[in-house]
Amino acid sequence: MKEQFSDLVLRWFDKFGRKTLPWQIDKTPYKVWLSEIMLQQTQVNTVIPYFNRFLERFPSLSDLARADQDTVLSLWTGLGYYARARNLYKAAQVAVEQYNGELPDSQTELESLPGIGRSTAGAILSLGFGKPAAILDGNVKRVLARYFGETEWPGKTAVQRSLWQQSEALTPTIRHDDYNQAMMDLGALVCTRSKPNCEACPLTGNCIAFKTNTVATIPAPKPKKANPTRSVYLLIQRDTKSRSVMLEQRPSTGIWGGLWSFPEYENKAALLNAAPTQPEQLVELSPFKHVFSHFTLHCYPIVVDSRATDAINERQQRWVPLHEDQELGYSAVTVKLFKKLRMLK
Ligand code: SF4
Repeated sequence: MKEQFSDLVLRWFDKFGRKTLPWQIDKTPYKVWLSEIMLQQTQVNTVIPYFNRFLERFPSLSDLARADQDTVLSLWTGLGYYARARNLYKAAQVAVEQYNGELPDSQTELESLPGIGRSTAGAILSLGFGKPAAILDGNVKRVLARYFGETEWPGKTAVQRSLWQQSEALTPTIRHDDYNQAMMDLGALVCTRSKPNCEACPLTGNCIAFKTNTVATIPAPKPKKANPTRSVYLLIQRDTKSRSVMLEQRPSTGIWGGLWSFPEYENKAALLNAAPTQPEQLVELSPFKHVFSHFTLHCYPIVVDSRATDAINERQQRWVPLHEDQELGYSAVTVKLFKKLRMLK
């Protein structure tokens, strides 16, 4: 079973697998790690330019560890899930302090680093260090769930455990790196979330979902919870003379941790209370919503014209030119508002 499964997958990989992605050229554990983190919840085509820019700026793990967090976050702006960037940065520092600037080469030590879970550790070991290890990222999970006809939500602990067992049992000891890459490619290119191309799949012979015509319903979706909503009033202090706005850095933990955003207030009265005492002009921009995976944020931006010389309060704040690129990480809402503001008179 194991040989047959991995042989089929490897034969498919030899013909159709991806072998020239930027992180596959002159492969190192650092490049594998970086790509694996960027690829979480993000498609290959989106990741490629970010990966190239990041690697150009930080060619080695020590370069990353020496950087400042704002520069790291600025190179991540637009890629989303910023905890990934903060953890990458923290993990690089731990690796410098504890492992001579290299990633460790054991599952346990890798998993002890911020942001590295079981599957990422397996990928770094297998693809980066050439050591046999299994993976179970989103793509592999989907392929195995369908192949074994797993009808329950794969996020359930018991289902995860069983899929991990299957993954470990099927991973060969020889060519485990190609096999792992092949499984990721198969999930990304053939056994896709919607409209999988079973005709092109090497596993149709024994795939339970294919045989029972249940491909469309596997993997089962996460049981739904009501998505809560929150509202924030965003104070946009703008100096029309210097064409700059005031931003503040968010606390290092939580949503958009460490990124630069417009100061948030619970309601309009609190915002106006914090604004300069005699705003020259006040403009309410159209409200909009930003949807996170676990809640929806309703944003009410208010522009208050003032002077860049106006005192800033004790929060971590600075004036930022609207029309110049800065090496700062911006939240998605900030990026959106910058676009709007650049079009305003
Ligand atoms: S046969 Fe279809 S459902 Fe089964 S693993 Fe292949 S692509 Fe996925």
